[in-house]
Amino acid sequence: MTVGIFRFKGSYEESIWDILKNLNLEGKIFGYNTIVIKPNYGSLHLGYPPEIQASIGTDPRLVAALVKLLKDNGVGRVIVAESGMYGVKIDKVYEGLELAKSIPEAGGELYNIDTGEFETVEIGETTVNLSKVFGDCDFLINIPSMKTHILCTVSLGTKNIAVGAIDFESKAKIHREGIHRLIALLAEKMNPDLTIIDGIVSHEYLGPTFGLPRRTNLLIAGDNVISTDSVAATIMNIDSREVEHLKFASERGFGKIDISRIEIKGEKLEDSVVADFQHCCRIDEAGEYYSRALGIEGKMDICGTDYCSGCLNATVGVIWVITNYTEGDTKPFTFVMGTDGEVPENPRGKIYIVGDCQAKNKDKGEFLPGCPPNGKEFYQIFVEQCLSDEAKRKAVEGQEKRKNSKDRRLPPMKHTLKYYQKNNTNENK
Ligand code: SF4
Repeated sequence: MTVGIFRFKGSYEESIWDILKNLNLEGKIFGYNTIVIKPNYGSLHLGYPPEIQASIGTDPRLVAALVKLLKDNGVGRVIVAESGMYGVKIDKVYEGLELAKSIPEAGGELYNIDTGEFETVEIGETTVNLSKVFGDCDFLINIPSMKTHILCTVSLGTKNIAVGAIDFESKAKIHREGIHRLIALLAEKMNPDLTIIDGIVSHEYLGPTFGLPRRTNLLIAGDNVISTDSVAATIMNIDSREVEHLKFASERGFGKIDISRIEIKGEKLEDSVVADFQHCCRIDEAGEYYSRALGIEGKMDICGTDYCSGCLNATVGVIWVITNYTEGDTKPFTFVMGTDGEVPENPRGKIYIVGDCQAKNKDKGEFLPGCPPNGKEFYQIFVEQCLSDEAKRKAVEGQEKRKNSKDRRLPPMKHTLKYYQKNNTNENK
């Protein structure tokens, strides 16, 4: 198992050559008939500020350069395949990031996993519906972005190749039935031939979607996804032995997480570690951290420790939009979500019981059914129930204005604004 660390010096093509040469793939890779590339755009909403987008998704220019290089050197078909998380339409993301143009221009094909065919496969004691596109390829390239993750500690190659390859129903299922174990098992089944982690602009702090961009200028690549993720986690100053899915996979013998046992090429690991990389908060601290990020400190609680980004985005995402219009003017409220969330003894304000995982508690507050709940419906409910008349007016007006505007992007969250001010790079000005 070899993992390479490569400093990005500005040329996508040169970086890819560097990776192929160091991993002895040069030449060999070009003889394949069909190569599938799995990038990471599943949780990317086009409404996010541009720098946040760049840190959440794989750099589209890196993907296009990879496609071009493979095609120019004789690979038959190169297919870029991705699926969306709840509420994300991947065809729109392909268009928004101009992949709909750049990939065909580079000679590749774009594939929408969500509208394609699936086959049912066994993982552990359960089954999932896996996209058929992966069954048809000779070589699989996994190309995630480098992110923290509130539930999985890190979102790197393992999570990308597992969660992004299955249908919506299976995504919800693996969240309910044990995400750490099941993503490790699914990644083992998929066993990508090459994983390239895009750490050019990483996502730190409240990942995978509410954190901050961090320019780290690195690409981490290897032939085993678990070992590659372990090196990337170390660069993020996270102990890979404490990342549950990596630990579980290595105990099964699929990849090494002990850094001293991994052969590392390219840059030295000790020179690459970002010592002050900001980790995500623990999931049981989410209410406190997210409310601070949104500028509504002390007004929002989140109860539960195993919910997924579907419910998180459908609730916190909505609050992000509303608090923007109302400048944080809202009454207090509590979200109860995941399979283990319970209504606390002294809840903060209005109680929202979020998502089908919470059906057991549906009579203990305002139930928002669905997997995940409908964000648009929740917007209306929240405006009615938790805003003063003045704040209500601002929220309705703001939404109307955004609907009629060409630029549908959201302004940055309060904590992102501070980042922009510090780095003087607010592209949303
Ligand atoms: S109900 Fe919510 S937390 Fe449960 S699986 Fe669905 S989206 Fe995830």
